Amino acid sequence: MADAFDVVILGSGPGGYVAAIRAGQLGLKTAMVERDKRLGGTCLLRGCIPTKSLLWTAELLTHINAAAEFGIDLKNPAVNWGQAQKHKEKVVAKGVAGIEFLMKKNKVTVLKGHGRISAKGKVEVAGEGGKQTYDAKNIIIATGSVPKSLPMVPVDHKRVLNSDSILELQKIPASLIVLGAGAVGCEFASIFNHVGSETTIVEEDQLRSRRGRGEGRDDPQRGQGDRQGGQRGQDARGGDGPLGDRTISSHPGDRA
Ligand SMILES: Cc1cc2nc3c(=O)[nH]c(=O)nc-3n(C[C@H](O)[C@H](O)[C@H](O)COP(=O)(O)OP(=O)(O)OC[C@H]3O[C@@H](n4cnc5c(N)ncnc54)[C@H](O)[C@@H]3O)c2cc1C
Repeated sequence: MADAFDVVILGSGPGGYVAAIRAGQLGLKTAMVERDKRLGGTCLLRGCIPTKSLLWTAELLTHINAAAEFGIDLKNPAVNWGQAQKHKEKVVAKGVAGIEFLMKKNKVTVLKGHGRISAKGKVEVAGEGGKQTYDAKNIIIATGSVPKSLPMVPVDHKRVLNSDSILELQKIPASLIVLGAGAVGCEFASIFNHVGSETTIVEEDQLRSRRGRGEGRDDPQRGQGDRQGGQRGQDARGGDGPLGDRTISSHPGDRA
């Protein structure tokens, strides 16, 4: 007979593990189900955390490249992308270990496998050891989201990447087109532009791309700075505005 829990949480991303910690703190018998090998969800494994690590590599390089201006001579800095990836993995692994520790500390049972609500108050977990069904007085669904593929540019993880596979790139691409100037698109564009990829963002929302160039903002000083960044960014490798260098706006009906 499988265990019965006060609360079973599906998913170990920030939605899931924070709920699990709180439930544990409140003295509830808690289980968290995760189908990935590692805990942490998109944020820790494929989102916020790994991108910030790579972003810091890019930012550091930008500072180093500007160092001579401030009286520090650093000759020929080069990006060791393999090492940047290793460092990213180290940061992620530390975060995963932190979540595992917090689960133990708060007496949360971690169930590895694909979770499914099989009936009212029942959660079935299909793991390596087969299927097991658990009773759950309460169920929290925190299963997050996965990247969407576009019908006209299917993701093959080789030439057409999504936000998961771009994080695994083993070398810096010579050029890169980023579809979408949202937070995630701008973040990747910024990383790769700064480490040397000729980067172009394609954005259908004209307002977003104008704002990226510093227009349409309330703060005139900030706008000015961004505008300068946009102008400098005519050189694809030198741009340091928030959108890096180039933004192309397209609109529904525009020809590709
Ligand atoms: C590239 C990128 C950068 C980002 N940067 C930031 C940032 O800087 N700041 C920020 O606030 N947000 C950022 N985000 C968004 C952030 O990652 C998400 O908002 C956050 O991860 C959502 O948390 P969640 O717990 O809802 O889902 P997720 O983190 O997606 O976690 C869901 C978990 O549920 C598991 N799961 C799904 N279905 C099942 C099932 N049936 N059984 C068992 N397990 C299951 C999944 O494997 C996953 O581990 C970024 C996202 C991306 C892609």
